[in-house]
Amino acid sequence: MSTIITGGEKFEARVPLLIIGAGAAGLCAALAAKEASVEAVVIERDAVPAGSTALSAGLIPAAATRFQRAKGISDSAQTLAADIQRKAHGEADGAVVEAVAENSAPLIEWLSDRYDFPFDVVDNFNYPGHAALRMHGLPSRTGLELIDRLRSAVETNDIVIATERAASFRKWPMRCILATRATRATPSSGAKRSAQSSLISAAIKATARSQRRITF
Ligand SMILES: Cc1cc2nc3c(=O)[nH]c(=O)nc-3n(C[C@H](O)[C@H](O)[C@H](O)COP(=O)(O)OP(=O)(O)OC[C@H]3O[C@@H](n4cnc5c(N)ncnc54)[C@H](O)[C@@H]3O)c2cc1C
Repeated sequence: MSTIITGGEKFEARVPLLIIGAGAAGLCAALAAKEASVEAVVIERDAVPAGSTALSAGLIPAAATRFQRAKGISDSAQTLAADIQRKAHGEADGAVVEAVAENSAPLIEWLSDRYDFPFDVVDNFNYPGHAALRMHGLPSRTGLELIDRLRSAVETNDIVIATERAASFRKWPMRCILATRATRATPSSGAKRSAQSSLISAAIKATARSQRRITF
């Protein structure tokens, strides 16, 4: 069961990986970290993790997915990348666009296979600017369903989300000691990882016990 830590109390924590923001990006990152055996904590500014994701239609553009193939839709990462650049008037960072486009299908299929997200591809509406039918959505076609399913997956995987904690590069309100590497924790294995992991879990759980605790 995942824990959401709320309230204004200050505490110190040392975590291998700190993820700032519990929107779709942050929660996917948290799940990916867990799969890589990296203990992550997500901090979220708002009282409830939602972000723009919850406001959106939750339709994710992805190219060359098996959902497209099943409907006979031909597409490629290169075409998606070209569409993005056209929309961005060529101003987007090419390496980022390429990475997003190439990983779009694996992302949809990962969420579907590993976490049972019931995606399908929208085939009755051609999204402006996209050369192929490639918007993938959940049954309700809402971002709320997307964020709810992500939160649920995070919950099942026992990942901590600390809410009402806004990260700031000038001041850390939670006085979190950032032992984190911004991108990836140093791989550790065996006894070291186990000891480190237990320590972090114990510290976070002890902190959580002293505060209002919400499970979802
Ligand atoms: C009305 C609307 C419709 C949309 N429709 C679509 C669509 O159909 N398809 C599509 O692909 N995109 C759509 N978008 C865009 C899409 O919603 C966003 O690109 C996407 O949700 C961004 O995800 P994210 O995780 O990066 O950000 P968010 O979901 O916004 O999550 C960021 C989180 O970080 C938190 N946060 C911010 N600053 C801090 C801080 N300093 N400390 C701690 N936490 C912080 C925020 O509170 C928030 O919860 C839409 C957007 C809107 C508003």
